[in-house]
Amino acid sequence: MPTPIKKIVIAGGGTAGWMAAALIKKVLHQTVDVELVESEEVGIIGVGEATIPPLQIFNQFLGIDEKEFLSATKATIKLAIKFENWRVPGESYYHTFGAPGANMGFCDFQHHWLHAKQVGMQSSLWDFDLNYLCCNHNKFNKIKAQNPIHNLPYAYHFDSALYGKLLRKIAGNSGVIRTEGFIDEVKIAPKTGFIQALRLRSGEEISGDLFIDCTGIKALLIQKALKVGYEHWDHWLPANSAIVVPTERFENTLPYTRSIAHPAGWQWRIPLAHRNGNGFVYSSKYINDDDAHDVLMNNLDSKALEQPKKISFNTGRTIKQWHKNVVSIGLSSGFLEPLESTSIHLIQSGIIRLLKVFPNDGISEAVVDLYNTESKEEFETVRDFIILHYHVNQRNDSDFWRDMRNMDIPARLQQKIDVFKQSANIHNDNNDIFRDASWLQVMLGQGIMPQDYHPAAKVFNNEELINTLNKISQTKQQLLEPMLSHDDFLKRYTT
Ligand SMILES: Cc1cc2nc3c(=O)[nH]c(=O)nc-3n(C[C@H](O)[C@H](O)[C@H](O)COP(=O)(O)OP(=O)(O)OC[C@H]3O[C@@H](n4cnc5c(N)ncnc54)[C@H](O)[C@@H]3O)c2cc1C
Repeated sequence: MPTPIKKIVIAGGGTAGWMAAALIKKVLHQTVDVELVESEEVGIIGVGEATIPPLQIFNQFLGIDEKEFLSATKATIKLAIKFENWRVPGESYYHTFGAPGANMGFCDFQHHWLHAKQVGMQSSLWDFDLNYLCCNHNKFNKIKAQNPIHNLPYAYHFDSALYGKLLRKIAGNSGVIRTEGFIDEVKIAPKTGFIQALRLRSGEEISGDLFIDCTGIKALLIQKALKVGYEHWDHWLPANSAIVVPTERFENTLPYTRSIAHPAGWQWRIPLAHRNGNGFVYSSKYINDDDAHDVLMNNLDSKALEQPKKISFNTGRTIKQWHKNVVSIGLSSGFLEPLESTSIHLIQSGIIRLLKVFPNDGISEAVVDLYNTESKEEFETVRDFIILHYHVNQRNDSDFWRDMRNMDIPARLQQKIDVFKQSANIHNDNNDIFRDASWLQVMLGQGIMPQDYHPAAKVFNNEELINTLNKISQTKQQLLEPMLSHDDFLKRYTT
C-alpha cells in the first residue's frame, strides 16, 4: 500500500530549498508538514544572479510585493542578454525577452521582415523589438499592455543569497520548520529502497514521507544515497569550471546581462543595485585555471570586491529526477551552464511540476514516470538551446570555437536549424522554456540567414508591407520616448 504524503523533508537551504519550501507550504498548507534541513557550515553556492521572466509569477504566487522584492534582493531589471563576440569577434546581438514586430496574419513576423529585406528595407529585426530599444537607450517603465505589441517582458538580476533570506522568512511565517544541522547519513528502508530519515551529526533523525533533494552539487539523496546515475553532456558543452568575482557597481545600471565570448569560454557581467556579478566560464581542456583567472581579472570594468573563487561543475542531468520517494530539485538534479540563466527557472518548474502531480495518497510509478519524462524533455531543450549558441559560430581564433562548430549536435537541434535555414520556420517543443522569438533571435544573431520565407508573407504588396512595418516601428518608438532611465525607474519605484 502506498504511504499518504503527510510530511515533506527538504534537504538543503539554497535557492532551490527555500523556493521549494515556500511554494509547497503555500499550496499544500494544511495538508502537509514541511521541514527544511540546512547546514550553515556547508553554505550555499550563491552565484545565481540572472533570471528569466516567469520568476515574476512565482513571486506573485507567494504574495511577494515587487517593490519589496527589488529592495530586499538588490535587484535590477533584466530585459535581455547581449551576446558579444559570439558569432565573430567585434559583433554582438541581443536575445531579448520580447518578440520582434507584431502579429501580421498567418505567418510569423520574421517572414514579413525577410520579405521587406528582400525589397530593400534596411532595418534589423531588433529595430522592431521594444525590449531591444529599451536596452539600447538604457530605459525602462512598467507597461500594462492590453495590446501584445506594447508588451515589455522583463526579469531580474538579483542577489540570490538575499532572495533565499526573503523566502526563508516567508516560508517560516507559513509554518515551514527549519532545522540547522549537518546531514551525516541517509537512512534507507531495506525492503522498499525508500528513504526513511536523514541522520544529522547531532544524532537527531528527521523522518518523512517524501524527500526533496536540494543539497546542490553534492546530491546527497538522489546520487550519494540512491545512486541514480548521471548523464554527462560534456561532449556538447565542455565547460566544466567558472571563476567568479563581485565588483563595484557601475554608475549607469544596464537593464541586461552581458555575455562576452573569449577564445576559450565566455564571461558574464550582471549589474545589481549594490555591486556587479562577474564570472568566466571555461573548459579546462582548452585553458588552464591561471590563464582563465587572468581572462576574468583583465576584463573587469570596475574594482574587484573579493578574491576570485573557482567553481567546478559537471554538465548533464541526473538520469531520474524523481526516484523512489526522492525528488531532486536545483543543482542536485543536473547542471547547465548559466548562459541563458535557466537554473533558477528549472527549480521553479520542478517545484510546480511536483505540485501539479502531487501524490497525496502515495507515490505511484505512473506519476513518477510522468514527472521524469517532462523534466528530461525540459532539461534537454534548454541544453539544445545552449548548444546552439556555441555550435553556430564563425570564429576562427581558437580550437575551442572550431571544435564547437565541427561537433555533432543532438538530432532535434540539427532539425530545428535545418528547418529555419530553409524556411525561416521555428518548430516548438512542448516543454521548451524558450519559445519562437528566443530561437529566432539566437539563430539570426549567430548568423543563420534563412534561404526563403513563407509564401503567405507575400499577402502584402511592397508599399503596404513597408508602411505596416514603419507603423510597428513608430508605435514602439513612441512607447520608448516617455520612459525613465533604468536607474531612475529603480529609484522611483523602490522609494
Ligand atoms: C558559476 C555559476 C553561475 C550561475 N549563475 C546562474 C544564473 O545567473 N542564473 C540562474 O538561474 N542560475 C545560476 N546558477 C545556478 C544557481 O546558482 C543554482 O541553481 C541555485 O543557486 C540553486 O542552488 P541549490 O539550491 O541547488 O544549491 P546550493 O545553493 O549549493 O544549496 C545547497 C544546500 O544544501 C545544503 N547542504 C549540502 N550538504 C549538506 C549536508 N551534508 N548537510 C546539511 N545541508 C547540506 C547546503 O547547506 C545548502 O543549503 C549558476 C551556477 C553556477 C555554478
